[in-house]
Amino acid sequence: MAPLILDGKTLSKKTEALLLEKSTELKAKYGFVPVLATILVGSDPASCTYVRMKKNACQRVGLDSMSVEMDESTTTEQLLAKIHELNRDSRVCGILLQHPVPRHIDEKACFEAIAPEKDVDGVNTATFGRMTMGSFAYKSATPYGIMSILEEYGIELEGKEAVVIGRSAILGKPVAMMLLNANATVTICHSKTKNLPEVVKRADIVVAAVGKPRFVKAEWIKDGAVLIDAGYNPGNVGDIDLENAAAKSSAYTPVPGGCGPMTIAMLMKNTMESAEKACKEASKK
Ligand code: NAP
Repeated sequence: MAPLILDGKTLSKKTEALLLEKSTELKAKYGFVPVLATILVGSDPASCTYVRMKKNACQRVGLDSMSVEMDESTTTEQLLAKIHELNRDSRVCGILLQHPVPRHIDEKACFEAIAPEKDVDGVNTATFGRMTMGSFAYKSATPYGIMSILEEYGIELEGKEAVVIGRSAILGKPVAMMLLNANATVTICHSKTKNLPEVVKRADIVVAAVGKPRFVKAEWIKDGAVLIDAGYNPGNVGDIDLENAAAKSSAYTPVPGGCGPMTIAMLMKNTMESAEKACKEASKK
């Protein structure tokens, strides 16, 4: 049987349509237009593109976006001061610091400075800890998108062997914790993992978050596995050799059109949720 294509593009559009309804409702009920603040330090072309895509998405779902563009020479102290200012701004419901920042900046300190109630990109330690322990937190956007795709297509996770390749703070680790919380049996692999092909061969669900084009080979894949390719490399190529591996799978996310569009949709979803909470809080006062 032909594998099921896990279409993140269509799901992202569906998600955005619901978010537009929500923002219209917030405007009508509370007269409030929520703001997502995006901070871009320097002028890295890829980062500029990502920020522009996020601003366009804000427009589509009825959020205002505030662009904070800072010079390449910005210091950690200056960036921290800006984040504190945005933390205090009641119109701002979400703060996104575009990654990566220039090397001389203490990125971790800046991520940590974002107030958890505005950490809609799920980047700080408190957010990760709360999510891992099953408490409320805004989930890191790409992992949240992956979990939403799995849910939309009814992919069963309980008791399944999930293998996550990659352990970054924004992708590998949080998606592993989310799969664990969904009762999958999770193995996290990284650059020091031994016998990676054999580990991947055990997986019912493979999540590739490596950052190397077509890194995961068809021979590593168990027949009928579900393939989640979070990778996005130059030339619109993912981290799984989907051309050859997809045929062995029961379902897979295409690249492009799988995990990518869902990341931005989830960022919007988190921001809208933060806005709704802020409106409800303000109306109590
Ligand atoms: P990252 O921070 O560079 O992490 C890569 C991970 O892959 C690391 O944990 C690394 O292990 C592991 N790795 C590297 N070589 C390996 C090997 N030979 N065997 C096994 N593991 C290996 O990357 P990231 O930020 O998580 O991104 C991963 C991919 O997802 C990239 O293609 C990126 O473009 C994509 N991405 C997509 C979205 C989206 O919106 N769709 C968002 C974010 C990222 P160590 O920890 O041992 O170094």
